[in-house]
Amino acid sequence: MDIKEKLQQKLGKGIVEAADEEIYYALLEIVKELAKGKERGSGKKKLYYISAEFLIGKLLSNNMINLGIYDEVRDLLAENGKNICEIEEAEPEPSLGNGGLGRLAACFLDSVATLGLHGDGIGLNYHLGLFRQKFENRCQRETANPWIEEKSWLTRTEVTYPVTFKGMTLNSRMYDIEVTGYNNITNKLHLFDVETVDEGIVEEGITFDKEDIARNLTLFLYPDDSDEDGRLLRIYQQYFMISNGARLILDECMERGCNLYDLPDYAVIQINDTHPTMVIPELIRLLMERGMDMDDAIDVVSRTCAYTNHTILAEALEKWPVEYFKKVAPQLVPIIEVLDDKIRRKHTDERVYIIDKNDTVHMAHIDIHYGFSVNGVASLHSEILKKNELNHFYKIYPKKFNNKTNGITFRRWLLHCNPLLTGLLDNVLGIDYHLDSGKLEELMNFREDKDVLERLLETKRENKKALCRYLKETQGVELNSDSIFDIQAKRLHEYKRQQMNALYVIHKYLEIKAGKFPAIPITVIFGAKAAPAYIIAKDIIHLILCLQEVINHNPEVSPYLQVVMVENYNVTKAEKLIPACDISEQISLASKEASGTGNMKFMLNGAVTLGTEDGANVEIHHLVGDDNIFVFGASSDEVIMHYEKKDYVSKDFYKRNKDIKEAVDFITGDEMLAVGNKESLTRLKQELLDKDWFMTLLDFKAYTEKKEEVLKAYENRSEWAKKMLVNIAKSGYFSSDRAIEEYNRDIWKL
Ligand SMILES: *Cc1c(COP(=O)(O)O)cnc(C)c1O
Repeated sequence: MDIKEKLQQKLGKGIVEAADEEIYYALLEIVKELAKGKERGSGKKKLYYISAEFLIGKLLSNNMINLGIYDEVRDLLAENGKNICEIEEAEPEPSLGNGGLGRLAACFLDSVATLGLHGDGIGLNYHLGLFRQKFENRCQRETANPWIEEKSWLTRTEVTYPVTFKGMTLNSRMYDIEVTGYNNITNKLHLFDVETVDEGIVEEGITFDKEDIARNLTLFLYPDDSDEDGRLLRIYQQYFMISNGARLILDECMERGCNLYDLPDYAVIQINDTHPTMVIPELIRLLMERGMDMDDAIDVVSRTCAYTNHTILAEALEKWPVEYFKKVAPQLVPIIEVLDDKIRRKHTDERVYIIDKNDTVHMAHIDIHYGFSVNGVASLHSEILKKNELNHFYKIYPKKFNNKTNGITFRRWLLHCNPLLTGLLDNVLGIDYHLDSGKLEELMNFREDKDVLERLLETKRENKKALCRYLKETQGVELNSDSIFDIQAKRLHEYKRQQMNALYVIHKYLEIKAGKFPAIPITVIFGAKAAPAYIIAKDIIHLILCLQEVINHNPEVSPYLQVVMVENYNVTKAEKLIPACDISEQISLASKEASGTGNMKFMLNGAVTLGTEDGANVEIHHLVGDDNIFVFGASSDEVIMHYEKKDYVSKDFYKRNKDIKEAVDFITGDEMLAVGNKESLTRLKQELLDKDWFMTLLDFKAYTEKKEEVLKAYENRSEWAKKMLVNIAKSGYFSSDRAIEEYNRDIWKL
């Protein structure tokens, strides 16, 4: 049956008569059926990618692209007066992740299926997601973000396990989401849920009874952990996720003929950051329950698990008091103690112990000692792990350490989000690059081709206009599509330094007021959610929203400078912002951004990076060369030195540099206090003066100078078009297909 007949049959009426929502639900069913009918991953050995987050984004269009029916459906709808983009609006975005780490997991599942590899994802089915961000009185407010509807991408399975916690057993149920590969097999994302979950216990915003585990366990991703109940809830969630995962893995492997002693021949478990770490002691426990002796169990598990490190920020490396495990999953405590004891017998260096002298368990240490691979996510990051952060482990296990530079799936981040650029590239290069990203390099042959360069500029203009229309409709802001679109979109964190960008905006505002006008108007766009309990991050959002108010309402300045913060930044918003970007802001304090993947998405879509030598920016720089990126700021070595010597004093920069002083003082000046909250703005200013842990003022001067250079370069349109072209041509390396091929070659060996 062809798609048209199927669609009409599901709708029970003509396409013309159907509402957008009805069409969405009908397509959802058709796509689910098609995906289910596809060949499955197979083979003796299987990858299990366990992650607390899978930031998968909307699935309809992406699945239709991967199943090869997108163009047909789009044209069919158009013939009937329907626009596929409006159908997409009916789909809620699954809110199962927070930022880059969760999006990486989603890109990886796409590539595993696209490469035809046997591998599934394992995670949790958070009903209300992270949170939905609303702006109220120029502040972030959090509300629940429900995404599961009567008909959804989830398929209920018959897989359920009793999960035992201290004094209570909760029954789980597994739900599956089909993961379609591009013209290839379908794998699965398994999301475990607790049968007794109850959305009704959520009160105002995102508050709920944190002690009612049976009803709250799978409500939210990263519940507020600023109190003990919140921290315990995180342990409940983690144990629930990995206990279900471990049993699923053992059951599946035995079904494939595994005798458990040969588990490493049947399974490889990739532990995405430390949240799933408890899978190691839990698997050991389960193997012992099934009759294996402990040393054998430890050996088997150690050859099955591999760990990916995502951060060197001290506050993000998970540590939990032994007490918490005793309260939640006491069955793990004796195992963790044995794991620690074995290390203590072999090593004298206390820094590699699992349980420290304060009776705190260092989760990453379990992964490093009892996993067979430890990888960082960009070349600089992996070097810093070896040289600094994890040096004492590197000395013990030099062979375990390896680098796997992150990647992004080009199906979503080019074919889906940027059909205009895709059309141009298809036309110029053919379509081989869809699956062989290295082929993008052939674009270099068109570097001097005036026609191609002009068409590149034209696609960017059209994408900027589309973003303007979208922001007008959704947020009521009117932007100048002929201005330069300078975009910083990513989670809000001090190390990512949105505050430095905001200080630049202030600096520019003051310059314009003083009569120094930019040659081309500038639009600075932000998108970012702040963790609900992260006060300074929320202060930075408040600062930006106040600047938006002050600047956009100043008739002398707003023709030259506009600021807008996009509400509720998520994958859907990213897909609209990225194709419209001219300048990609990647300005983290060097050494702090493990890799970044936003930087890769922007590059692929023809934005030019303004960035520090951090994370994968270093590799972007290396690929595009000095002429096609704008790099500034202290190096990671310098930054690490400042931390070691504790010699960075932000106030010195404030006192010495007039521009810095003016910009910082502006935060609590009259114009801002007229629209903002005094307490919040004062706290932020004081933070910059008294602490500035991520060295904003250190790099401010270099940043403003480099930004002037970028703005100047933009004026030469044909030279800029060449920079765009080189960035696109060189971005093939950042395909998640390449990353997954490396994981498979070096770690998984499927
Ligand atoms: C890619 C992506 C990120 C990661 O961005 P970084 O700049 O690498 O931090 C975060 N959120 C969303 C929605 C994304 O798509």
